[in-house]
Amino acid sequence: MNESFPVSPPRAWAEVDLAALKHNLAVARKSSVADLMVVVKAGAYGHGLEEIARFLQAEDIAFFGVANVGEARRIRNAGVETPVYLLGATWHGEREEIVAREWTPCLSTLDEAAHFNALAATAGKRLKVHLAVDTGMGRGGFLLAEIPSIMPELEKWEHLEIDGIGSHLPSADEDEVFTKAQIATYHDILQSIGGESRFKWRHLLNSAGLLGYDRGLCNLARPGLMLYGVSPMPGHQSSLKNVMTLKSRVTLVRTLPAGHGVSYGRQFVTTRSTRVATIGIGYGDGYPRHVSGQGAEIWLNGTRCPILGRVTMDQIMADVSGAGEVQAGDEVEMFGANIPVDEVATKAGTISWEIFTGITPRVVRCYSGS
Ligand SMILES: *Cc1c(COP(=O)(O)O)cnc(C)c1O
Repeated sequence: MNESFPVSPPRAWAEVDLAALKHNLAVARKSSVADLMVVVKAGAYGHGLEEIARFLQAEDIAFFGVANVGEARRIRNAGVETPVYLLGATWHGEREEIVAREWTPCLSTLDEAAHFNALAATAGKRLKVHLAVDTGMGRGGFLLAEIPSIMPELEKWEHLEIDGIGSHLPSADEDEVFTKAQIATYHDILQSIGGESRFKWRHLLNSAGLLGYDRGLCNLARPGLMLYGVSPMPGHQSSLKNVMTLKSRVTLVRTLPAGHGVSYGRQFVTTRSTRVATIGIGYGDGYPRHVSGQGAEIWLNGTRCPILGRVTMDQIMADVSGAGEVQAGDEVEMFGANIPVDEVATKAGTISWEIFTGITPRVVRCYSGS
């Protein structure tokens, strides 16, 4: 009966539409006119690292961007040979494997460079590395004042090949003036240390950068969120297709009399006779408890229904008085095409990135559209 599910009837599952992902990839390509590093850190933003990497491997992706060696390993173990780039600073325990498997790290210090060079020498290799430049993110990269003196130093290391130069935008979706100045700084730095021809890969733009700004001399963009269907820039949402739909089922429907409390803390008390559905999903699945009392809604029977009281670990309650005939077993959309994930994130006081990556392993991922 439930053969489309890898395990027997789940109460909470995430449907991932791979055709929509492919559509969003085409949008990213079209707006950036550059090669793409597809960011698949944190389990491809909760969409399933192996599944997404396998699906996209035939799409001529320049790199998969990951957070750590564990994620890089999972891509290789899935049989995917696309080059892998480590988005943040590496710590020394990760580096031997990075060299052995020829993943691409970015460098923020000469000490890192020296260590990679020594490891590459031992392995008898020349390792491709990228130079990270801190133009304002404050999380990694060489500081601007260091740049003029470091290039000659880096070029002394025979076992390193400086194959790219990257930087990161902290507020492309919030501060246009700062971002434009930052992009100009990146270009100044690039020009001052050899220009376009010196670096095979030049990259700066995340989703917001790619959607809102010109690529300039960059030839690689690093989109994450937009590929998963959410635009960080207002005005671009309609060009993207929804990829993940988080779903659950009604497990119980009752009519509670006026004056009846609902959920922990009894923060919500009915003011009239209310049709209340209990739904089999909670914060144990990654649906954020912080939406409690914030007016969050679910989608049921083609209608928005308000969540009542606090989100519990495994169950939530919703007022389905306006949703017509509702029965146990009915499907509910927690977020997706009808309830934007962005709306849930805002009600929870957070961002879509965190909602996606917070979906727990208990939620079965199901794929369609490949
Ligand atoms: C996560 C990340 C990205 C992708 O950001 P989105 O906003 O999801 O597009 C790009 N570059 C770096 C360095 C990152 O850490």
